[in-house]
Amino acid sequence: MLKPTIHITWHGAIECLRCGYHLDATSHLSKPISPKPGDLTVCANCHEVMVFTRSMNLRLPTEREVFEMADDDELRRLLQAMAQFSLVEWRRQKKGHD
Ligand SMILES: [Zn+2]
Repeated sequence: MLKPTIHITWHGAIECLRCGYHLDATSHLSKPISPKPGDLTVCANCHEVMVFTRSMNLRLPTEREVFEMADDDELRRLLQAMAQFSLVEWRRQKKGHD
């Protein structure tokens, strides 16, 4: 079975709004890019979908954004990738990065 390639970008730690997990990296399916305000992110631990604010903190998506996400094919692929993504593998990659 083919698996999506995930590119990881490391940044300062931010806590997940749902589970409090310390998120210190973001990933993208096709290229390594740094997140910017308004981008979506998904917690590697609990898979909560959040939005980067102007100050690069996190907030939960608005009701309107949730409806927009339902029609977003890229987000659907990301969530499918996250479901297959092993947190153990992620930590192994992080250890190699340090
Ligand atoms: Zn979380």
